Amino acid sequence: MCPRGARLLAGQGGLLEKTEIVAHCLLVEVGRELVLVDTGFGTGDCADPKRLGAVFRASVAPACRERETAVRQIQALGHDPADVRHIVTTHLDLDHAGGLGDFPDAQVHVFGAELAAAKSPALRERARYIEAQWAHGPIWVEHGAGGDSWFGFESIRLLPDLDAEIAMIPLPGHTAGHSGVAVNTSDGWLLHCGDAFFFHGEIETPGRCPPGLRLFETINQHDGKARQRNQERLRELQRNHGDEVTLFCSHDPQMLEAAQRQPAVAT
Ligand SMILES: [Zn+2]
Repeated sequence: MCPRGARLLAGQGGLLEKTEIVAHCLLVEVGRELVLVDTGFGTGDCADPKRLGAVFRASVAPACRERETAVRQIQALGHDPADVRHIVTTHLDLDHAGGLGDFPDAQVHVFGAELAAAKSPALRERARYIEAQWAHGPIWVEHGAGGDSWFGFESIRLLPDLDAEIAMIPLPGHTAGHSGVAVNTSDGWLLHCGDAFFFHGEIETPGRCPPGLRLFETINQHDGKARQRNQERLRELQRNHGDEVTLFCSHDPQMLEAAQRQPAVAT
């Protein structure tokens, strides 16, 4: 996404200069199967960008380049997209669920509260969920609360039959059923935090964030108190366990670059 307002959104550059916001997806290779965490925009959005809505397109300016979609990048890595058997979603906002249609046979793991909010959104949340992105009828696998504890967070272990440790970590606030996704690797845990924060400085102590981005987070929150409480817990996790867990969010380009420099090995 290439919105104008670099200084207010990224903390540097001109007031009206364009900046870059990414949609960070994670591909986990487990034996012969692939697990995809979030899907960003998909080929359906590239073919019909209008489905994203006029307000979203005017404010965030998604580029919708087909070669950047998850399915094309997975093919470019030499994989068969049909091997993506599972998709784990942090939430179903339009910039995270756009690629679902590119993997119609995958099981899509989601929190029940998120699926319910997406299927019958409140009036003020109608623009964030785009029904056309799941018109193909995904194989939803709904998860509820409960489960184990993970660094003090609630955690729901997924796919126990697979040879990798993957768990959903409920982090509601940005949306009704927003969740992080934890993946164990040979070099510690990865935690995909989705939109629980937007900027790397937010999980530093003290937290810091460019003002335009902070405003964007506030405008788009489902439950402000829950969002702030969870962000505080992530700051605490970074402070106390930053050497065991690598946290990253969906939209920070620096965090994507760092991850791309050093792919991890799932265990
Ligand atoms: Zn987002």
